[in-house]
Amino acid sequence: MPECVVIGGGVIGMMTARALHLSGMEVLLLERGLLGGESSWAGGGIISPLYPWRYQDSVNRLAQHSKTTYPDLVASLSDESGVDSELLNSGLLVVDRDETRVAQAWAAQWSENLQQITDRKTLLSIEPGLADGIDQALWLPEVMQVRNPKVIEALRGSFEHLGIAYREYTGVQDIVVEDGRVTGVRVGGELLGADRVIVAGGAWSAGLVDAVQRVDVEPVKGQMIMFRGEPGLLKRMVLSNGHYVIPRRDGRVLAGSTLEKSGFDKTVSDTALKELRAAAVALVPGLGSLPIERQWAGLRPGTENGVPYICAVDEVEGLYLHAGHYRNGIVLGPASVQLMTELVLGRETFCDDSPYKVAASH
Ligand SMILES: Cc1cc2nc3c(=O)[nH]c(=O)nc-3n(C[C@H](O)[C@H](O)[C@H](O)COP(=O)(O)OP(=O)(O)OC[C@H]3O[C@@H](n4cnc5c(N)ncnc54)[C@H](O)[C@@H]3O)c2cc1C
Repeated sequence: MPECVVIGGGVIGMMTARALHLSGMEVLLLERGLLGGESSWAGGGIISPLYPWRYQDSVNRLAQHSKTTYPDLVASLSDESGVDSELLNSGLLVVDRDETRVAQAWAAQWSENLQQITDRKTLLSIEPGLADGIDQALWLPEVMQVRNPKVIEALRGSFEHLGIAYREYTGVQDIVVEDGRVTGVRVGGELLGADRVIVAGGAWSAGLVDAVQRVDVEPVKGQMIMFRGEPGLLKRMVLSNGHYVIPRRDGRVLAGSTLEKSGFDKTVSDTALKELRAAAVALVPGLGSLPIERQWAGLRPGTENGVPYICAVDEVEGLYLHAGHYRNGIVLGPASVQLMTELVLGRETFCDDSPYKVAASH
């Protein structure tokens, strides 16, 4: 019998299972579909919240901690799996106006390198592909990115290498609770015993715990498109009015994303394709001549203000919730996993965990 069952094989569940395994715990991860097949695959992989100054300190605290750990994490995953997660330091240009003051205050608070660029010549030296008329930006040269499908491939390779137990196409129907403590999970007709269960079911997490605890996690659809390009067309990530472009190492460029509350529907639309394409071309006209190779949608595990749940469920001993990372699961992941691991192991936590509890005002 495993000491701990992790429900959900997105980045949050996979990183959690790996961290607990490395701490010596016997873990079993259960995934309803394929590992990383949901939001974690669909995301952009920017290792920063978009407009981080719009978020609460509790989100920024995790983001700051994660950012420092990413290079080591990616290196370890590469050693274990042989897969390169394509960590790139491409930097982020924020072209929106009007937020300079609040952005500067955020940069001062978190010792971030943020530069205000006010002349076009300097801007073009940073990103030559920018459209005419863009003559100012906030420049965050240290913002990195990873390529989501590669991170998932690397985590899968790490599971194989380290011998972490997992089952795909194994959906958990119920969490079994007896006398106020968790005793396992039900999968098909089978009862799998465990003293600890961690719910990392992304957008589906609320449904898994609602018998014992009401939590505010709901699916927020994000559509994305990918241009087929050659390396060099775009060097930097660029963000404007919620739309962004992300250059991958092989020349492909992602453009995202929509924010849609339409339940668990993952269909894509022509309207979104046109909107995303137009916004991307308005930022970088060179994209206009490129074919669109792919369009997809993912369901973010949305919470009202983007603060994830990283906590024990008070009503049920041995039950933990690790979900609701909304738009930031890739960037928050490593820090969030560290905190969850510390809670499960009963260790001192690296930060105050109270903002991430169910009782906190999410
Ligand atoms: C378009 C888009 C762009 C994004 N861009 C970024 C970005 O640039 N940077 C960033 O940091 N974040 C980004 N995100 C957000 C990020 O992808 C998510 O926050 C993160 O992937 C959440 O990870 P997760 O493991 O909680 O959820 P998921 O990846 O959705 O994983 C949850 C898993 O649980 C499984 N599951 C559910 N119920 C059960 C059950 N009953 N039994 C077994 N398994 C179950 C699901 O099948 C799923 O695989 C983006 C998201 C989208 C959609």
